[in-house]
Amino acid sequence: MVSAGGQTVRTVLGDVAPGDLGVCDAHDHLFLTSPQLPGQELDSVDSAAAELAAFRAAGGRSVVQWTPHGMGRRAAELPGLARTSGIRIVAATGLHQAVHYAPEALTGLRAEGLEAVFVRELTRGIGDSGVRAGLIKVAGGFHGLDAHARWTMTAAAGAHRATGAPIAVHLELGTGALDVLDLLCGELEVPPGKVILGHLNRDPDFEVHREAASAGAWLAFDGPSRAHHTTDWRMPDAVRALAEAGHGDRLLLGGDTTTAAARSVNGGPGMPHLLRRVRPRLVRAVGEELVDRMVTANAGRAFAVAWAG
Ligand SMILES: [Zn+2]
Repeated sequence: MVSAGGQTVRTVLGDVAPGDLGVCDAHDHLFLTSPQLPGQELDSVDSAAAELAAFRAAGGRSVVQWTPHGMGRRAAELPGLARTSGIRIVAATGLHQAVHYAPEALTGLRAEGLEAVFVRELTRGIGDSGVRAGLIKVAGGFHGLDAHARWTMTAAAGAHRATGAPIAVHLELGTGALDVLDLLCGELEVPPGKVILGHLNRDPDFEVHREAASAGAWLAFDGPSRAHHTTDWRMPDAVRALAEAGHGDRLLLGGDTTTAAARSVNGGPGMPHLLRRVRPRLVRAVGEELVDRMVTANAGRAFAVAWAG
């Protein structure tokens, strides 16, 4: 179904109107493998199905998976999971920090041309799965951008120009938001409304949050309840500060489950935690209307694209 403006969200079962996303976890993972997370891989189809069922039971209707190229996305499994769970799934292309890859994999991508890989995965499909990505995920560094980040963001900007796809950015411990905007939107001229900054909750600098929102970027508060992060309790105040400054329309929420132990079906918070505990806590801070908008209309707008390819 195509919306009136011709903008759609590219799910693994096809393009849908932004309003069809329903309650959306705007940043999460069904599958994820990295040499940085040995023994914690998200690679079980059964576990992914169980987590999706738990998310749906909690009221969830769509999940945006930010797992980029080469990190075990299992793209071919996503349509089946979407059908059985009744959850809309959006897949990603893009590239994470260099530490998540074998050096030879990066050499191969350089030879092939990273932008071309991103465009192919957005328009033709991931591998031979036929499943198209709906966003481009890249990553910054801790308070800065190294050569790898500049390479991937330059390719992402090119793929955005070719397709219209949004660019979702992992900010390392929530830092570097303004450096990312300077590069993507300043040098590379990506419209700020096509940039989604992730992990703002991990660096609760309200001034930086306001500056990024004023620039017109999306701010994703994602990955609550991670035992190795201590900023959960600042998140409601950060969201309230942005809402009071008039930036409620730029805010997104995500669960960002990155390890098997963090899944609800393994005893962790997982995807349902977002709706079960984070949502009511945020409602107390900013009211039900805004929180509902964050998880529905905002997500629809953030991932909506007038696809050029
Ligand atoms: Zn993530």
